[in-house]
Amino acid sequence: MDQTVEFDRALLQRYNATGPRYTSYPTANRFHEAFGPEDLARSARWSNEDLIPNPLSLYVHIPFCETVCFYCGCNKIPTKDHGKAEPYLEALRKEALLLEDFFDMDRRVEQMHWGGGTPTFLGMQQMKELMFFIRSNFNLRDDDHGEYSIEIDPRDASDEMIAMLREIGFNRLSFGIQDFNEKVQIAVNRVQPLEQTMAAYRAARANGFQSINFDLIYGLPFQSIDTFAATVDTVLEARPDRIAVFNYAHLPHLFKPQRRINEEDLPSPEEKLGILQHTIEQLTGAGYIYIGLDHFALPDDELALAQRDGSLYRNFQGFSAHSECDLIALGVSSIGKVGDCYYQNERSIDAYYTAIDREQLPVARGIQLTADDIIRREVINSLICYSRLEFAGIDEKYGLEFEEYFAEELEHLQVPLADGLVSLHDRVLTVNPRGKLLVRNIAMIFDVYLREAGDNITQFSRVI
Ligand code: SF4
Repeated sequence: MDQTVEFDRALLQRYNATGPRYTSYPTANRFHEAFGPEDLARSARWSNEDLIPNPLSLYVHIPFCETVCFYCGCNKIPTKDHGKAEPYLEALRKEALLLEDFFDMDRRVEQMHWGGGTPTFLGMQQMKELMFFIRSNFNLRDDDHGEYSIEIDPRDASDEMIAMLREIGFNRLSFGIQDFNEKVQIAVNRVQPLEQTMAAYRAARANGFQSINFDLIYGLPFQSIDTFAATVDTVLEARPDRIAVFNYAHLPHLFKPQRRINEEDLPSPEEKLGILQHTIEQLTGAGYIYIGLDHFALPDDELALAQRDGSLYRNFQGFSAHSECDLIALGVSSIGKVGDCYYQNERSIDAYYTAIDREQLPVARGIQLTADDIIRREVINSLICYSRLEFAGIDEKYGLEFEEYFAEELEHLQVPLADGLVSLHDRVLTVNPRGKLLVRNIAMIFDVYLREAGDNITQFSRVI
């Protein structure tokens, strides 16, 4: 599969609209409160009854952060009070036990991710106990072949903590970095010395983590092509298995911490495009494969392999090689996927605790996918993960005729076709190298909810 990216500045500027990142379809803003705990319970029971039930994926959300990064758009609880962790862990355990009534706990957990917030806000003993609890109640693999990952803040992660994480069963680490430039770090309130990050990285390698990801962000205050290139050079010296380069979306009307970022300090749209272009050239020049959207991986990393063998999938953590799993979400605001539904837990900690105290699943909203949603999800997933869509495959799988079913969408595709973003031959739609960075725009054409919403899409970030 050709994952070459061609950078056409004029085209990128012309298509740079706001749009979803498609970590799910329908996107989370379509979830509704008519979907509640009993709907999740029903889906969970049904999911057990498949002839061969899907394996499980677990997402565990730890919402606490000691300090707030000003660019942050996540659901987190800023606090220096580590005493808040214990009641939360207690609630997590109760939530997991409530789920035992609905899920067959013998189903193997192929994938697990602890995210946040900051999972490393927890003390080492708390992390050990939480993992022990999960192992005692879910069927985790003990052969190190599961994909078990955790996000770490290198400022919290001592060598001892990293060794302990490996020992309790994690085999993948994701490092929050964003930028090594000190002026940028000060402006976003995340001062993280290079030596500290590299010491954590060396410890991770020494302990045999199988895949290590670095998260970077471009578009932050005081970044320029040159400063960010220096950060990327440092990253390339370390050579992590995966690198995510996120576009900073400045949406201060939605995310309060962003109001502390001075707009005048942000790079211009021109400079941002320059940073992106240079970064892509650096990463692909150093042998990384462009997986899609913000993600790059070394050719032998599981994501790159999954893209080659057709098992890549888009999910709430970005991309995944485990499309088959039902995703159980534990913790405040977590999003899960079970059977043909998505659900999200209560987004406020008080509402989350109230539900747990009442011994109720803390599901706040969700959506049961329609037959049309399922078809469109597959179309969007195929475009984003593989840059191609075979109409015949959709016809066959869903008993339809693509050109008839998607007549309106095919009309909307005429402009990107004429612009060379995509090409269509023998009923195969291919995203061309010059359309790779704009694949969200192509996916948006197949998003019926977005079309119905008209221009009301300000909650989404710009595609570039
Ligand atoms: S970016 Fe991560 S560490 Fe920073 S405030 Fe947000 S959730 Fe916390």
